[in-house]
Amino acid sequence: MRLIYLDNHATTPCDPRVLEAMLPYFTEVFGNPSSALHRHGRRAAEALERARGHVGNLIGAEPGEVIFTSGATESNNLAILGAARGDQTGRKRILTTPIEHKAVLEPFRQLEGQGYELVWLPVDSRGRADAETARRLINDDTLLVSVQAANNEIGTIQPVAEIAEVAHRHGAIVHCDATQAVGKIPFDVGGWGVDLASLSAHKLYGPKGVGALYVSRRFRKGSLRPLVLGGGQEAGVRSGTHNMPGIVGLGEACVIAGEALAGEQARVSGMRDALEERLRSVIPNLQINGDLGNRLPGNSSLSFTEVEADALILNLPDLALSMGSACNSGTIEPSYVLTAIGMSRESANSTVRVGWGRFNTTGDIELASTQIIEAYLRLTSL
Ligand code: PMP
Repeated sequence: MRLIYLDNHATTPCDPRVLEAMLPYFTEVFGNPSSALHRHGRRAAEALERARGHVGNLIGAEPGEVIFTSGATESNNLAILGAARGDQTGRKRILTTPIEHKAVLEPFRQLEGQGYELVWLPVDSRGRADAETARRLINDDTLLVSVQAANNEIGTIQPVAEIAEVAHRHGAIVHCDATQAVGKIPFDVGGWGVDLASLSAHKLYGPKGVGALYVSRRFRKGSLRPLVLGGGQEAGVRSGTHNMPGIVGLGEACVIAGEALAGEQARVSGMRDALEERLRSVIPNLQINGDLGNRLPGNSSLSFTEVEADALILNLPDLALSMGSACNSGTIEPSYVLTAIGMSRESANSTVRVGWGRFNTTGDIELASTQIIEAYLRLTSL
């Protein structure tokens, strides 16, 4: 039996077209793009700038506003810690939501330990933050506001543009962890009104270990301090020899995502909705989490009340699913995202995350629903 991959929030398989675009950069085009004196270096430098343009194109940024990093973890750290270290205003308030990825929460906690006042922007039972509450919490002492574009567990899409408007009225910097959104829903830095935005290639059918940070031009004059020091390859904001195959892969992944986005959004959400429908017809008290009118197309966070998620997953050896987020697996604590939206420990522990993606087929709906229903009925009859 084939393993059906339904864990596209944890990572996505590398698109074969992306891999093909990357291969020459391991072999014939092996130059260091910083070696401007010979053709090997210049060919790499051209590819580097092409990729920068592709990433910029997808998110509505100028090429010069794209900084390549090792992934969204580094991008988030650079945005948050770099903005704090580069600050010259002396502002001390920093604001984020409790359902951010740990690569946002941990830098925020570090800043809190250094004397910053960490203010939580709460989310409701669907995982939504709102601009009205942000208006009460953001003031002229606010340095930085970080709100994710979409959540990696429940898929909820945040009203980032509205919150950014409030933040900008007070002169605060706006960072957005757009890792789960880029390539899945339309995301452009102008429309969303952000100053800094993180993304990662492996979430949009590119390779692991490469990503980018969008840095709006108004940050260029030393207001973002680098965390990784060295040759200053990325506009002085990030050092290290460029990961050329990875960067070319990210660029190609962005080209494909730009072309595929609209069709894929409909196709992927259609498969997601069909599975939910089938499960609901047999499991009437199935709870679907997140903001149902406003979530990532591939996201389905399902609570099975009478059945524990680990038992269910153990009974589904042919489906690759996740309990909560992959980054929390291995710990027995319920997901902090699910508890932050007010879910009980029991409900959180009976929640499974299904993540549909580009390489799923309609045949997967039948196979996955049949297997989940059979496992559920078996476990509840015990
Ligand atoms: N932010 C979000 C919302 C994510 O889902 C992830 C990946 N789990 C990250 C950041 C970290 O990305 P990376 O794996 O590229 O470090």
